[in-house]
Amino acid sequence: MSSDLITRLTQTLDPKAWSTDPGELEGHISDWRGRYKGASPLLLKPGSTAEVSAILARCNEAGIAVLPQGGNTGLVGGSTPQGEVVISLKRMNAVRAVDADNESLTCEAGAVLETVQGAAAEAGKLFPLSLGAQGSAMIGGLISTNAGGVHVLRYGMMRELVLGLEAVLPDGRVISDLSGLRKDNTGYDLKQLFIGAEGTLGVVTAATLKLFARPASTAVAVCAVDDPAAAVALLRHMKDTTGSVAAFELMPKTGLDLVVAHVPGARHPLAGDPAWSVLIELTSAEADRAPSLMEEALGSAFEKALLTDAVIAQSQAQAKEFWALRESIPEGEKVHGKAAKHDVSVPVSRMAAFMGEAIKLAEDADPDIMVIAFGHVGDGNVHFNVAAKTAGAGEDFITRIKPVTAKIYDLVDAHHGSISAEHGVGILKQAEFVRRKPVEAEIMGRIKAALDPNHIMNPRVLLGPKSS
Ligand SMILES: Cc1cc2nc3c(=O)[nH]c(=O)nc-3n(C[C@H](O)[C@H](O)[C@H](O)COP(=O)(O)OP(=O)(O)OC[C@H]3O[C@@H](n4cnc5c(N)ncnc54)[C@H](O)[C@@H]3O)c2cc1C
Repeated sequence: MSSDLITRLTQTLDPKAWSTDPGELEGHISDWRGRYKGASPLLLKPGSTAEVSAILARCNEAGIAVLPQGGNTGLVGGSTPQGEVVISLKRMNAVRAVDADNESLTCEAGAVLETVQGAAAEAGKLFPLSLGAQGSAMIGGLISTNAGGVHVLRYGMMRELVLGLEAVLPDGRVISDLSGLRKDNTGYDLKQLFIGAEGTLGVVTAATLKLFARPASTAVAVCAVDDPAAAVALLRHMKDTTGSVAAFELMPKTGLDLVVAHVPGARHPLAGDPAWSVLIELTSAEADRAPSLMEEALGSAFEKALLTDAVIAQSQAQAKEFWALRESIPEGEKVHGKAAKHDVSVPVSRMAAFMGEAIKLAEDADPDIMVIAFGHVGDGNVHFNVAAKTAGAGEDFITRIKPVTAKIYDLVDAHHGSISAEHGVGILKQAEFVRRKPVEAEIMGRIKAALDPNHIMNPRVLLGPKSS
């Protein structure tokens, strides 16, 4: 990009609102996993919706491609620029209002999830979205990927947690609905277009989010189960007997071993290091009720042989320790080496069959393969990751096992699942997505053309370049 063009784009902006400093750009041009390394001539850091509007109008006029960016924790390559101008929302991070009576919170797109959770808690309310990257991921990014996390089972994905949003269209116009209404039947629900759009339709600048009552008590347990089929049976039992399962996460020994090896202070929670365990969180509106509910439900599960061992956290600190183990699995994997990651979903009723078949096909394919299948099994979502047993694998490992990836996705299809449960499509899954859903991709292309006729918004992700 010529320096003339950079001057044209930035001349009326606050000096704090842009940078061409390679040192500052560095943190914005590669992804969390270290799989994508990109480049950008210019980092824009607008401080207001009006600034975003001015920037987009100018870029649209000049045909300059832009990439909106939040916390850059996305896992499908959607937030790594390859020459696009980066629009970081990091300066637009205010929590504008908390309305406890309306159970809603309005914040700017650059507000970090943990900050939003804290602001809700200060008002005695709960914002339930929770995931491993919550110290960095921002509301605009979470909306644009329709993030899931560990509490989807009870509260739904981001799509269900957004009451309204403000977004700037590529031509600079602003659509805004931050009134926090739960009922508004005036035509198409346009906000839903921006949720999960991965920055391809406009820049989300603010949102009004749903809040909930805080549970009066919470209990967390880790249980050993024989296999994923037993985990699914235990899930059903816990749901039927308690009615208050807030999280149900599968943890394989393969994943916990890496956490224990690489995360200081981490240790296996159960004696004998079982091959499979689940982390269960129950909540109750009654003070002190959740722990006894957990004890009763696990007791009856034990009698039915649905689990082989269990430990209930005896303090908040221990509950945090259990959660830290679960949340550290991606970190442990990362230190071990590169892995092929498959964020997939199937109906919960097919989870056991899918897992059995997928593990067998992966392990049969290559003697050096280790399956690390973990995560939100309560929602039918598993991160079915395939790593090398030998530490230190690089990109060549992922290339080598591409045929295994293809077979896993075929198996997902056979079980009526999705090849992207919660991380989105980005660059990583674009070809697989378009091949599987050609009609949907064509319709999405028409929606994009209507809102972004010059194809400037994150033009390589989701649907791919205009010519394709
Ligand atoms: C350790 C770890 C654990 C994770 N766990 C989970 C999990 O449990 N569940 C889950 O769903 N995800 C998880 N993720 C993935 C990631 O945190 C989510 O995808 C998150 O929603 C990304 O938010 P972000 O602010 O980092 O967005 P970014 O990575 O910056 O961007 C993601 C996408 O959104 C677009 N975008 C960002 N901001 C805007 C905006 N304001 N307007 C328009 N488009 C925008 C970008 O262009 C890009 O396409 C995890 C990631 C890590 C590293």
